[in-house]
Amino acid sequence: MKQEHGITIAVYPGSFDPVTHGHLDIIHRAAKVFDKLIVAVLNNTSKNPLFTLEERMDLIRQATKDLPNVEVDGFRDLMVNYMKIKNVNLIVRGLRAVSDFEYELQMASTNHKLNSDVETFFMTSKPTYSYLSSSIVKEIAKFHGPVTDLVPPEVEEALKRKFPIDQN
Ligand code: ADP
Repeated sequence: MKQEHGITIAVYPGSFDPVTHGHLDIIHRAAKVFDKLIVAVLNNTSKNPLFTLEERMDLIRQATKDLPNVEVDGFRDLMVNYMKIKNVNLIVRGLRAVSDFEYELQMASTNHKLNSDVETFFMTSKPTYSYLSSSIVKEIAKFHGPVTDLVPPEVEEALKRKFPIDQN
């Protein structure tokens, strides 16, 4: 599906609270498939995020600085409205396990129903990261457990600042 200037652009939406190696694996692989990938960070206040929208976007920017065709953006709109503004029809989502499937099917079908030009592409997670989620990372970090293998260094530092070890 070619876009305006003959390049294929896809959006990878999510909360990314915070970005993990699982997300980054999908970003690296999708950036090879599409000419341009927009990582769209959802400002979903109902999810009560640990990191602000700006913090989440900034951490993704740092972690993807070596990928010239990856752009980071934020949105608070309905996905299909955001895509219309950006003039993009393709969504990329990651699938970790069967448990992700039902929700993802519902989302993809809803978006397609709202705009039949919108297509969702699924990429299966690397088996090493199939258990990995932002929630798991936050749970470990809260109790000052090791997250080095799960997130990039800038996220590890940001988590340490959110959950400082009590000096007393
Ligand atoms: P959302 O709140 O929209 O589910 P997330 O930030 O949790 O946002 O996830 C964004 C996307 O990344 C989703 O498609 C999710 O399935 C995928 N994803 C999350 N963790 C991983 C992982 N470890 N491996 C592959 N894909 C993942």
